[in-house]
Amino acid sequence: MSKKSDTGEIEKAREILRGAGLRSTPARISVLIALQKGSKPQTHAELSDRLVPLGFDKATVFRNLTDLTDAELVSRTELGDHVWRFEIRDPSHDRSSHPHFVCVDCGVVSCMEGLELPDANQKKTLNIARISEILVKGHCLTCEPL
Ligand SMILES: [Zn+2]
Ligand SMILES: [Zn+2]
Repeated sequence: MSKKSDTGEIEKAREILRGAGLRSTPARISVLIALQKGSKPQTHAELSDRLVPLGFDKATVFRNLTDLTDAELVSRTELGDHVWRFEIRDPSHDRSSHPHFVCVDCGVVSCMEGLELPDANQKKTLNIARISEILVKGHCLTCEPL
């Protein structure tokens, strides 16, 4: 049993929630930890598969994902298949400063740091819109080796 690390994990989750002004409910903590453990963005269905056995229903998981997204702790991506994928936001990672590559097969997101957005720091790149993020879609080399 790794009770010790579990407690630390929960404490950390509480701290993050407190910092965002959210109440630390058991469901919210579990959703946050499940997202932190995922190595890639996860769908509501994938998270439910892990959390329903712990006693949370799918609607609760969804409601908490929405709360975490609204509080900007979690970011939400859609790959064109009408399925939202959720991942922990890294506050030190400015997603608008460089484009991202997202694999439409497995959902892995990679930074394309070498590519700078024009005037990204002004965030008003074009007169037509304020660009928040550029996503480049394709198949990663794990899913489709060259
Ligand atoms: Zn892939
Ligand atoms: Zn990035």
